[in-house]
Amino acid sequence: MLTPEERAWRDKRLTQIAAYETAEKRRDFIDDEKIWDILRRKSNPTRQEVEEVLSKARELRGLTPEETAALLNVGDADLWEAIFETALWIKREVYGNRIVLFAPLYISSKCVNNCVYCGFRHSNEAVTEKTLAMDELEREIKILTSKGHKRLIVVYGEHPVSDVDFMCRTIEKIYATKNGRGEIRRVNVNAAPLTVEEYRRLKEIGIGTYQVFQETYHHETYRKMHPANTLKSSYLWRLLALHRAQEAGIDDVAIGVLFGLYDWRFEVLGLLYHAMDLEREFGIGPHTISFPRLEPAVNTPFTTQSPYLVADEDLKKIIAVLRCAVPYTGMILTCRERPELRRELIPLGVSQVDAGSRIAVGGYAEMERERIPEREQFQLGDTRSLDEFIYELCQNGYIPSFCTAGYRAGRTGCHFMSFAKKGLVKNFCVPNAVLTFKEYLLDYATPVTRELGEQTIDRYLAELGRHMPQRAETLQAMLARMEAGERDLYI
Ligand code: SF4
Repeated sequence: MLTPEERAWRDKRLTQIAAYETAEKRRDFIDDEKIWDILRRKSNPTRQEVEEVLSKARELRGLTPEETAALLNVGDADLWEAIFETALWIKREVYGNRIVLFAPLYISSKCVNNCVYCGFRHSNEAVTEKTLAMDELEREIKILTSKGHKRLIVVYGEHPVSDVDFMCRTIEKIYATKNGRGEIRRVNVNAAPLTVEEYRRLKEIGIGTYQVFQETYHHETYRKMHPANTLKSSYLWRLLALHRAQEAGIDDVAIGVLFGLYDWRFEVLGLLYHAMDLEREFGIGPHTISFPRLEPAVNTPFTTQSPYLVADEDLKKIIAVLRCAVPYTGMILTCRERPELRRELIPLGVSQVDAGSRIAVGGYAEMERERIPEREQFQLGDTRSLDEFIYELCQNGYIPSFCTAGYRAGRTGCHFMSFAKKGLVKNFCVPNAVLTFKEYLLDYATPVTRELGEQTIDRYLAELGRHMPQRAETLQAMLARMEAGERDLYI
């Protein structure tokens, strides 16, 4: 039950949302019937059609909903192999072989909403709500920076204790918390939709990406999952959240679906229409796309009983098709998935992952407890340490990156997109990945990871020297400055 104060806050916000829905000129750009119609029309694509779509995908121009639907409906295993190969090729072409690392930080789990699939829904008495006090937040940051993290995604429930004032205070605190050489350099935010004015305040604080997942694009399912009279019940307020963020000047925005609520093929087209509408209005598509799957949560039976749960094989297809359809967008794979599956999914087009994650509020202070179900929104599949994960990335030929240079050098929004669309991100991002990876190796890595990591960097330098000798020389000089004690160097 909500307290009278919580109810009053929610009701005030509901009035604000209702007024917005009446005044908003933008239209709902998701047409369920049209999406189903496309999926039906493309339900049996010919081999030739699929091959043509894949060659267009290799031109890095993105795909139309019809072309995307054709890929989603492929039946032959060998054609799926061709899609997977194309996805990997695109990822390498646009982003190179670097993988960006970040950590989630849950700051508050209190929420006035009651989403059917969520462990944090207010009616779930099996979960203990918690909001970090400033000293607890500082402790979490110091633990994260002591492991080598530089990028965070901070997560807040929708509640008066974690309103925009609280978000601003906590984000300022995160940037201000130093730990020897350790610091957080980019704070991305996952929180409920806000007003344009509220987004402006976050922009001023200097956030990185703002993330709002629609959860499901299917209107009827959205209505069933988000009970009436809750803040999340307004489909339109949520759908246009990132349009408002863009209006406020936040030009790195991120979309996602909670796969498992509805048909996955439908949801992939929903994501595509969302990306297309952002691009149509602002000239900038989403900075990243996330594809979390429903995971079990305490006292939340829907998470294991949904008729739309997505199989591992289908998750591979989702990632590869999205990679082909929206080639310029970063793709985020989280620790929700098990280590063995993450190994298989990363090559399909993933560019960002979290590692060493804990998702209970205050969970990093109890690092040795891999899971704290009574304080978690859902359960994690991969609880390995950051160092362990980095070692594996190097073994598999990737360059781990903690880079935040793009954002600090102004390569965001349109600027970033024009880079990404020309396949130029890798010219900046991979050298910067190497610089931040070197920082990690010098300051945080275990001896075995350091040894393997140095070999990874040497291999990259040798290859860069063959194609761009001047860039390789510059990079080598910067690495030498880091050996001598300098930090936070970037191109
Ligand atoms: S999904 Fe988000 S909005 Fe819904 S109950 Fe959970 S924390 Fe609240």
